[in-house]
Amino acid sequence: MRFCSLRSGSSGNAAYIGYKDVHILVDAGLSGSTIEKSLESIDVNPCSISAILITHEHNDHIKGAGVLSRRYNIPIYANEATWASMENLLGEINCDNKRFFKTGEDFTLGDVRIRPFKKSHDAVEPVGFSFFCGQNKATIATDLGYISRGVAANIMDSDIVLLESNHDVDMLINGSYPWTLKKRILSPHGHLSNKDAAEAIKKFIKLKSIGKIYLGHLSQNNNKPEIAYKTVTDVLKEEGIDYEINIALRYAESDIVEI
Ligand SMILES: [Zn+2]
Ligand SMILES: [Zn+2]
Repeated sequence: MRFCSLRSGSSGNAAYIGYKDVHILVDAGLSGSTIEKSLESIDVNPCSISAILITHEHNDHIKGAGVLSRRYNIPIYANEATWASMENLLGEINCDNKRFFKTGEDFTLGDVRIRPFKKSHDAVEPVGFSFFCGQNKATIATDLGYISRGVAANIMDSDIVLLESNHDVDMLINGSYPWTLKKRILSPHGHLSNKDAAEAIKKFIKLKSIGKIYLGHLSQNNNKPEIAYKTVTDVLKEEGIDYEINIALRYAESDIVEI
């Protein structure tokens, strides 16, 4: 299994997962050309992408999906509600490339089993994804207001996790956003704070049920990579836990993980 977060944050999200001859793009929330260049930088030919999976219809997750689908004849997978709300934003998509999955029901692409799972966010039917490749599992869970039991169960036993660590609560509350937006971000349908990510990671590590961790979807205005990193590692240190924490970057590819 090969994993790389290509970009992460409100300016655009895309992640790559590869296994054998299957090459998957999770979200395509940047321009088509940025994603092409990013894939090429990790030695993935955009022509070889087997599928684009969409987590939810927000622009930072779908911006380049239509362009890439048309340019390389790539199928786009989303649940029905997400298709209904994003379809007119993608431009014309060939009927053969309009694919559906059901939230909570596994489906396969070649030897990769994919589980789209429910999460809480202010979109019509947002999902996270777990990928099962041979003995290994990777999970992507960003854009979520809180970690429900269901989300936790899906993160459990993942060798690679991309988990949201969106904001520092003090920075958000004291920052310049209008109160309605602050309330939206802090709500159970908003985004996960550094502290909430830290507490969840602590639990997963104590249960020995997590592998390589990436913190992602960091807010540009209400967070900094060093603050997210410090918040998480401080919570772990209080428990005497020394663990490698990685950051999925806003404008660059993260390290590629191969397992
Ligand atoms: Zn987002
Ligand atoms: Zn979103």
